[in-house]
Amino acid sequence: MVPGVKLVIFGKQGAGKGTQCQRLARHYVVPHISTGDMFRAAVKSGSEFGVKAQEFMQTGELVPDDIVIGLVSERLSDLDTRGRGFILDGFPRTAQQAEALAEHLAPDEIDLAIDLEVPTEVVLRRLAGRRVCQDCGTNYGPDNPPKEDDICDVCGGEVIQRRDDTEAAIRRRLELYEKETEPLIAWYLSRDQLVTVDGMGTPDQVTARLIRAVDTRREHRHAR
Ligand code: ADP
Ligand code: ZN
Repeated sequence: MVPGVKLVIFGKQGAGKGTQCQRLARHYVVPHISTGDMFRAAVKSGSEFGVKAQEFMQTGELVPDDIVIGLVSERLSDLDTRGRGFILDGFPRTAQQAEALAEHLAPDEIDLAIDLEVPTEVVLRRLAGRRVCQDCGTNYGPDNPPKEDDICDVCGGEVIQRRDDTEAAIRRRLELYEKETEPLIAWYLSRDQLVTVDGMGTPDQVTARLIRAVDTRREHRHAR
């Protein structure tokens, strides 16, 4: 397996994006860039930037494009991402962000955008019981709780309910996903850069499907 890949992963809140991106990042040995995790880290640090971001996050609104684009462009300019690639989780989320990403990478482009598909009834159920490690971002649910109460298996951090996992904020995030982010899926499809992957099943089954989708894409590219 050749390491390194450039991926964008789409999926509704609760589709399992975060978990799957962590696994893909390990498999392909590339950084997992989650804008949500970056913002949560900023909030936790109490920086001015974090305080600002939190205002938007708490109610489920999107952080303004210029702020997000600045943050991601900076991260994509680091040596590791320039050399090996990245897995983008939660970015792009608007047309302006997608354009900024394409511009940033030009003349190069991403290998693949993946739509991790899970029905809305299922994500609503998953979100109700979701908790997250506030240090490393590992997700836990009713079916996979941490081994010790409230303590992350991976890093020992505290496992908490996300402050924006309230019913109202979840509803708003899903609404914005439909309105702002779903059109991007069509945009990547029209550029022949999109595949859809079924997000139902065990985490291992989903990971296997994702890896198959990425590897198939890379084989085709190399064959061209
Ligand atoms: P979810 O997928 O459950 O909505 P994320 O962890 O991806 O959660 O994001 C949490 C919050 O961070 C979002 O509700 C939003 O306020 C902010 N955020 C994350 N990524 C972006 C982005 N690309 N553009 C604007 N806001 C973002
Ligand atoms: Zn952790």
